[in-house]
Amino acid sequence: MLNSLSEEILRLKKERNAIILAHNYQIPEVQDAADIVGDSYSLSRHAAETDSEVIVFCGVHFMAESAKILSPDKTVLLPVRDAGCPMADMVTASGLRKMKARHPDAAVVCYVNSSAEVKAESDICCTSSNALKVVESLENKQVIFIPDKNLGSYIASKVRGKEIILWEGFCITHKRVKVEEVQKIRQLHPDAKILMHPECEPEVLKLADFIGSTSEIIRYAGEIPEKNIIIGTEEGVLHLLKKRNPDKNFYLLSTGLICANMKKTRLEDVHNALLHMQHQIHVDEAVRIKAMKALERMLEIK
Ligand code: SF4
Repeated sequence: MLNSLSEEILRLKKERNAIILAHNYQIPEVQDAADIVGDSYSLSRHAAETDSEVIVFCGVHFMAESAKILSPDKTVLLPVRDAGCPMADMVTASGLRKMKARHPDAAVVCYVNSSAEVKAESDICCTSSNALKVVESLENKQVIFIPDKNLGSYIASKVRGKEIILWEGFCITHKRVKVEEVQKIRQLHPDAKILMHPECEPEVLKLADFIGSTSEIIRYAGEIPEKNIIIGTEEGVLHLLKKRNPDKNFYLLSTGLICANMKKTRLEDVHNALLHMQHQIHVDEAVRIKAMKALERMLEIK
């Protein structure tokens, strides 16, 4: 059944001249059906550069929307209509406008986990891979960082000579990791390295051996000599980690590290997306042009 579904997806993909992009947090079957698997940063680059006419984005809404902003002439499909990101919903364009009015000299750095309207109100976007470089690239002494308070605090601890004004947003998945869980797993695997995503809470991050974006965690886990590695980000990354490092043991830092929205997409949804050309993403053109500037400014930073 799985095989025939995969074959049918391949056939439709050819017929539609489509590319399937999947985030590292997707379920294994969806990752295996994708042409490219990556984090927000690498997927937004691929979305901007692909020649395919159709982009099937297996992830959450803001990711597919970013692909549409960067590739307006392409058809961008989100297989599950209500796969959203609660963090992205924690900031609105009107809320951001009010904050900008209170800090008129500040530049706005917007984590890609945000709506097109919010990006349109921002100076530049960032991902967790490039957030530090993005903030450092700005001449402004004051920077409003939205919407993730934890990533913003982490960047504020690294950057010199800037005031980072934080928004009160957070990732409901990474926020679940507790200090006690880290202490407990450290006792269970004293020889293991703990790798964490900066969306975790600051007191939890203090206990990490390495802090990085999803792709940085995957790269680092492959490079270090340790055989036992504890992963402090969404459990979907374990699929690629185990595939690439069959000689290593990976443990999930917390059972809470499962994003319900990222797990909504099934192989059947990918098939239906290609079959019925659903669910198409649309972005208002005036909003898109402004949001594209913020995304393109980010992509220019090497
Ligand atoms: S893992 Fe967190 S930031 Fe990513 S989609 Fe899920 S809720 Fe949003």
